[in-house]
Amino acid sequence: MPFYNEEEILRTSINAFIQKLENLKSKDLVSSDSFLVFIDDGSVDSSFEILHSFINTNNIIALKLSKNVGHQNALLAGLEYVCDKCDCAISIDCDLEQDINKIDEFLYCFRNGCDIVFGVRNNRKSDGLFKKASAILFYTLMNIFGVKIIKNHADYRLLSAKALRFLSEFKEVNLFLRGIFLEMGLKSAIVYFDVKQRECGKSKYSLSKMLSLALNGITSFSTAPLRMIFILGFLIAICSGIFGIYGLAVAIFSDSVVPGWASIVIPVYFLGGIQILSLGIIGEYLGKIYKESKSRPRYFIDKVIISKKLKVVSD
Ligand code: UDP
Ligand code: MG
Repeated sequence: MPFYNEEEILRTSINAFIQKLENLKSKDLVSSDSFLVFIDDGSVDSSFEILHSFINTNNIIALKLSKNVGHQNALLAGLEYVCDKCDCAISIDCDLEQDINKIDEFLYCFRNGCDIVFGVRNNRKSDGLFKKASAILFYTLMNIFGVKIIKNHADYRLLSAKALRFLSEFKEVNLFLRGIFLEMGLKSAIVYFDVKQRECGKSKYSLSKMLSLALNGITSFSTAPLRMIFILGFLIAICSGIFGIYGLAVAIFSDSVVPGWASIVIPVYFLGGIQILSLGIIGEYLGKIYKESKSRPRYFIDKVIISKKLKVVSD
């Protein structure tokens, strides 16, 4: 569970997760060594202190990242950390919007041989208008650009040790987690759940974080925008060819040619727009290659605190 500045809800959610873990243990769905991992994504409020007060009396591991690196990277830090420490791991947000009681079903699927279980929300009734509209836009764009993605699946999912190992093979810096699991070719299942409204605290996904996630999703999995520039450029080249021949013919065969303002200015504006748009898209990919070529670390784990109750886990 990655979290960022969640002091309003963290106490409630840690208690809920501890209770759920005990419940799963009592049903023998997970081993008694099972543990919770919280990743503090560089919170600047009292979230980490709240978490700290729970550690030693519960099966909890706390990872504190040195700065805010965003939900996806924080989640990755947690998944990479547990990769060789578990049979399977379930990722979930810490705001209790996702129904934690569905974890039982996730585990049944795992026991039936699934390596990945995707939690998919039944509907978006609890979302505000902005979230609904941005989700529609996001999935439409993904569809247009041919990115394979499970609709309404966020990062509530189970991954087996094998899937976690496969994940560690993906070395890209701009990791779009929701897109890569379908690429693995592992046996998967879907579990549907109802979304609850956040009891307290605000969404930590700002508009800019959401836009960056969407752009990352498209440019990480699709080169369709580059192909579209090529097609657009090709069509414009044909049109300008025809226009050029027409202009030449008029200039040669007619002697009443008055050069028009519109015919000069409109193509200038139009082509200027297309060129800038195209450069922007190319720049987007170039920026990605630039970042990938530097292969910078995606996060820094500043501190690892392991509960004394957990003897089987070594950091
Ligand atoms: N989160 C994070 N780092 C960030 C932003 C969000 O770790 O930079 C966490 C957040 O605390 C929560 C999860 O990611 O546990 C999902 O975020 P949120 O609930 O704010 O997103 P929403 O549900 O509104 O899409
Ligand atoms: Mg949320």
